[in-house]
Order: sequence, then C-alpha cells, then structure tokens
Amino acid sequence: MSLITPTRTPVDGTEMLEPDLQELARTVRAFADDVVAPAAYTYDTERRLPLEIIAEMGRMGLFGLPLPEEYGGQGKSYLHLCVAVEQLARVDQSIAVTLEAGLGLGAMPIYRFGTEEQRRAHLPALARGEALAAFGLTEAEAGSDAGATKTTATLSDGWWTINGSKQFITNSGTPITSVVTVTAVTGERVGRDGRRGPELSTIIVPVPTPGFTALPAYDKVGWHTSDTHPLVFDGVRVPEENLLGERGRGFSNFLSVLDEGRVAFAALCVGAAQGCLEQAVLHAKRRVVFGRPIGDNQHIAFTIARMQARVAAARAVMHDAARRIDAGAPFTTQASLAKLIGSEAAVANASDATQIWGGYGFMNENPVARHYRDARILTLGEGSTEVQLGIIARSLGFDRAFG
Ligand SMILES: Cc1cc2nc3c(=O)[nH]c(=O)nc-3n(C[C@H](O)[C@H](O)[C@H](O)COP(=O)(O)OP(=O)(O)OC[C@H]3O[C@@H](n4cnc5c(N)ncnc54)[C@H](O)[C@@H]3O)c2cc1C
Repeated sequence: MSLITPTRTPVDGTEMLEPDLQELARTVRAFADDVVAPAAYTYDTERRLPLEIIAEMGRMGLFGLPLPEEYGGQGKSYLHLCVAVEQLARVDQSIAVTLEAGLGLGAMPIYRFGTEEQRRAHLPALARGEALAAFGLTEAEAGSDAGATKTTATLSDGWWTINGSKQFITNSGTPITSVVTVTAVTGERVGRDGRRGPELSTIIVPVPTPGFTALPAYDKVGWHTSDTHPLVFDGVRVPEENLLGERGRGFSNFLSVLDEGRVAFAALCVGAAQGCLEQAVLHAKRRVVFGRPIGDNQHIAFTIARMQARVAAARAVMHDAARRIDAGAPFTTQASLAKLIGSEAAVANASDATQIWGGYGFMNENPVARHYRDARILTLGEGSTEVQLGIIARSLGFDRAFG
C-alpha cells in the first residue's frame, strides 16, 4: 500500500493570513490556474507578453493593489501585492514579474516621490493595467554598482536633455508602456567626506518621446514572456517638472525603491518555489517506478519535505518584510533576507522538481522546466545574491564587505 495520502496538499501559507488576504490569494490562485497556466507554454514559446492577460489582471485591480483609491488604486497593503505576485508566480514567473516590476519598480516610485501632478498624470492608467511603467537603472557599467551611472541629464531653459543608455529594462518596450523612469547624472556634488562625485537624479520619460528607443528584446534564458529591452536616450528632451523627487536625491530614492521592490520580488521567488513543490508532490504521488509511486521512496519524500521547508521559511521572512513596509518600520535588511532566502529556495526547488520529474522535467512544455530556466535570474535580478549578502553584512557592522 502507498504510504502517501493522495488528497493531502502542501501547506500554501495562506492559512494564517487575514480574511481579505486569504480571499485575494484564492481569487488570484484561481485566475492563475484557470487562465494563466493553460496559456503559459504558448506565450513562452511565442516569447510575447499576453496583453489580454495583463488587461484582465488590470480589471481585477491587481495593478492598483497598494495604490490609494484617489489614484485609481485599491488602497490595499503592500502585503496584498506580495500575495498576488506569489500566486501568479506559482504558475508563470513572467506574468508575475510584469506585475512586480510594473508596480513595485514602475508605479511605486511615482507614488512615493512624485508631485501631485505627476501622480495624477501617470498612476490611474498604471493602476488599471491599461499602461505599464518601467524603471531604468542598470547600464553597461552600472549594475550592482548602480551609482556608476553614465547617462546624463542636462537642464537648460526649463528642459532636461537626456543622453545615454540603459540595459535589461523590464516592461520598457511593450505596446502599452507609457513611462520609463530613469536615473541620470545631473551634475556634481560634494559628499560628506568632502570628495566630489556625481549628482544623481531620477527623471520621468513618457513613452513615446523623440530620441527614446527601445531596441529589440533580449533573447533570454528564461522569463520569455516578460518584456526586456536595452534602451537608448539620444537627446531626449522632457520638461523640467519631469524630475521625480528632489534633484540630487536620485541615489537614495532608487535605493529605497529597490528595497521595496525586493520584497515583491521575494514574493515572486516564494511563488516559484511553491509551484515547484506542488509539481513535485503531484508527480511523486502518481509516477510509478519499480511497481510503486516514486514518493514511497524515503529519498524522494524527504527531498520534497525539504522543498516544503524552504518555501515555508522563505514565505515567513517575506511576510515579515512586507508587514514592516505596511507598518512604516525599517525593512532594508528584512527585504534583503527575504530576497536572498526566497531566490535560493526557488532555485533549489526548481532543480529538485526537475530531478523528480525525470526526463519529462527537461521538456519545455513542462511547467517545471520553465521554472528551472526562469529561476536562474532570481539570484541575479533586483540585486544579486552578493548585493543582498553585502546589505545583510552591513547591518551587522561589516561596512566594507561589499563594493
Ligand atoms: C531579465 C532581467 C530583467 C531586469 N530588469 C531590470 C529593470 O527593470 N530595471 C533595471 O534597472 N535593471 C534590471 N535588470 C538588471 C539587474 O538588476 C542587473 O543585471 C543586476 O543588478 C546585476 O547587475 P549586472 O548584470 O551589471 O552584474 P554585475 O554588477 O556586473 O555583477 C556581476 C557579478 O559580480 C558580482 N559582484 C559584483 N560586485 C561584487 C562584489 N563587490 N563582491 C562580490 N561579488 C560582486 C555580482 O553579484 C554578480 O554575480 C534586469 C536584469 C535581467 C537579466
């Protein structure tokens, strides 16, 4: 007799959430299973962002979850966004990152640092999912060292002129991309140590604007459905009032944007780890080898138990970081912990799930195979593992451990 009770499902972490978060998790889970999952392989092979699915997510209010109602949002917490991202990532990381980057990196900086006019101009369409926003920080020589930005913005006669390039920018070239917020050198400043350095600021570039080009999309290892482009800014002119936040505060502003976005990114990692866990349980219970389900072997059952442990730990740390954001408490270290633990859980679970699925785990039509490819970016994007370790080390007093 099989040792496994087929009706038992993995703990999905929603049991202790408040009722409206549980309701959101159920709704998004059903949408993910019924609408996103069946189409995921098609979009992955076509390498195109399914705008009809994005529009449906917009109608569900997902793109406005943490934004106030006065800007077209749902007035919910950051944890609501994390719960939604997690449920989508269970079945499709590309769809999940479109929401995570669109809101966490695209819309939230405009909400956090924007003027009333900027909020009213951009947020309602973004909150409805009718438009997408991108955040352009990374350059050829400014990735982990994001302060090494070379792109310049020069102010003259009430206009910024932007020259330079960005790379790997999510949501930057879709037919509904309405805005790209970029970091640029706007002058020179004297630091606390008396040394001169670049003054960095953040500027809103509406799309389209003459001189702005999204070059052809990258041929990526994974996240095929997510939209990622190199960007060129060739004499792009935008009005002075497109400065986002204070001039010269670009560096500290984007660090806080990254901290916050990292928590939603951690939710994506948790969802991916959970999706792999569920696929592993499913296959281990029904795949019969040597006359019995492979899950009857202690090695397989214990591998899956460890997958469950990883995802439960990652989710707990992610929830803690999200609740800190919502409480207005410091969360930089917790965001890095959540991103570090979540990404490593997702990579490990994707590898274990592939092993458990055997040869079919290596076939692209298998969701486990897609998770395996997609998970590779998770320890690199939104601050690599080493960046997270550097932030955590700094919180322990090791100020010179990174950079
Ligand atoms: C699919 C995708 C989507 C992305 N979306 C966006 C986006 O929307 N917006 C955006 O601005 N960026 C985006 N990025 C960029 C991403 O955030 C960067 O790729 C990432 O921050 C790493 O930067 P890098 O690629 O320049 O690597 P590098 O900074 O060159 O680092 C290379 C390696 O060296 C390690 N390293 C660097 N310095 C140290 C050190 N001091 N000690 C130890 N190790 C170190 C790094 O951890 C990494 O492993 C995206 C990237 C991808 C692939």
